[in-house]
Amino acid sequence: MNKLQTVEQSLWAATAAPLAPSPPLSGAVRTEVAIVGAGYTGLAAALHLALAGRAVVVIDAAEVGDRASGRNGGQVIAGLKYDPDTLEALYGDQLGPKLVANVAAAPDLVFNLIRQQQIDCDAVRKGWLQLATSEAALKPLQLRVRQWQLRGAPAELLTRQQAQRLSGSQRYCGGWIDHRGGTVQPLAYVRGLARSALRAGCQIHGSTPALKLMRSNGSWRITTPRGEICSAQVILATNAYADALHDPLRRSVIAIPSFQVATAPLPAALRASILPEGQAVSDTWQMLRYFRLDAGGRLVMGSRGVFGDAPLAIAARHHYCAVREIYPQLQAVPFEYHWGGLVAMTPDHVPHLHELAPGLRAALGYNGRGVAMATALGTLLARWSLGAASEELGYPVTPLRPLRLHRCSQFGARVAIQYLRGLDGLARARDQLLRKSGNA
Ligand SMILES: Cc1cc2nc3c(=O)[nH]c(=O)nc-3n(C[C@H](O)[C@H](O)[C@H](O)COP(=O)(O)OP(=O)(O)OC[C@H]3O[C@@H](n4cnc5c(N)ncnc54)[C@H](O)[C@@H]3O)c2cc1C
Repeated sequence: MNKLQTVEQSLWAATAAPLAPSPPLSGAVRTEVAIVGAGYTGLAAALHLALAGRAVVVIDAAEVGDRASGRNGGQVIAGLKYDPDTLEALYGDQLGPKLVANVAAAPDLVFNLIRQQQIDCDAVRKGWLQLATSEAALKPLQLRVRQWQLRGAPAELLTRQQAQRLSGSQRYCGGWIDHRGGTVQPLAYVRGLARSALRAGCQIHGSTPALKLMRSNGSWRITTPRGEICSAQVILATNAYADALHDPLRRSVIAIPSFQVATAPLPAALRASILPEGQAVSDTWQMLRYFRLDAGGRLVMGSRGVFGDAPLAIAARHHYCAVREIYPQLQAVPFEYHWGGLVAMTPDHVPHLHELAPGLRAALGYNGRGVAMATALGTLLARWSLGAASEELGYPVTPLRPLRLHRCSQFGARVAIQYLRGLDGLARARDQLLRKSGNA
């Protein structure tokens, strides 16, 4: 196995055009909408509000895109964990179809925004592949494709040969392609949103944690280390990085580590056969792997990471093995980068939109689908703040439900992940035995 050759650094930070650090907030400011969090949710909301002529101030404890929005896989995916029929059954005849239409259109929203705002972020719209690791895993994919096709979505089943040709891996036995999907350089995308929001008149302050949020005299007041914001409305766009600022919001999601590695640029001969048409992929392992090429021809692969203080080297080695299991032909290709981040999971697997108090709203819990969905919910938060009624949003506005035993839920998530890893291990061992005995 390859030695750990890389220090922790994100490929995206190494390759995105720089954005000047935003000045920390200093002094007292008054604005119409204050936004906490400068990722996709906060900046999509900020951009739409500023374009509609509202005064907007965005603050972030770190810098623009330093957290999940600048560290993710850049896969733009339509849909949620639940298939359209399930979503419609869960949310009823009125809201269900609107919710499905909203999640189906989320990639359009991203790629249209990139085009309209001329965001330079290596946007590629060649589709998203979901590939099956076993015959059993193919069945739910067939149902998914049928449901999307019935709603007019450009979704197609792939045979074993097609799946293997498009991925360049013999590991998969079929799958489907969703032509709505694609990829972006995620940090370049969020920095592009920030540039557009600044151009539209929005103020952005980095290194500015919101320490306290309180209501006084009909306005919201946010206290920061060196300043204060007074605003009529506040949007909390903190997702998996939500902290004690609003503890019930923090406790409404479970933060799970996700981790990625990137190889060196692939040699041309390998490059021609690995993801030759440029799709992004997720597979159907319990601990799914997601991968794609970047603009420089590097293979970028991610999966679940390590919790707490566990050394990132463990996750890096695990991912090196995953790359070589899927692509044995990459045995000699070195790795250049490894990095991780946090994904916010919700107990019902659906991203949440909340009104926490009058004029205080939040969206979070994208369950690993936030490139498209955080852009979509940020946009809905802007419409809502501009005066749309919650019923007009076409998305469920739900009461906040902090997990009572949040600490236990975090622990439970670790146990569940180990269990699912175990299931994958057993499935792999069974596959290997079958292959050896010539039955696969
Ligand atoms: C490794 C990884 C891979 C992923 N891959 C994909 C993928 O391929 N496709 C996909 O669709 N999704 C993916 N996701 C999920 C996606 O990145 C997120 O859903 C999305 O970026 C969420 O955006 P956001 O703006 O809500 O949150 P973030 O980008 O995390 O922004 C929240 C911000 O809030 C700030 N903040 C928190 N508390 C405070 C405070 N008190 N004061 C001030 N600021 C505060 C944080 O500093 C942070 O910058 C991945 C996530 C990770 C971590």
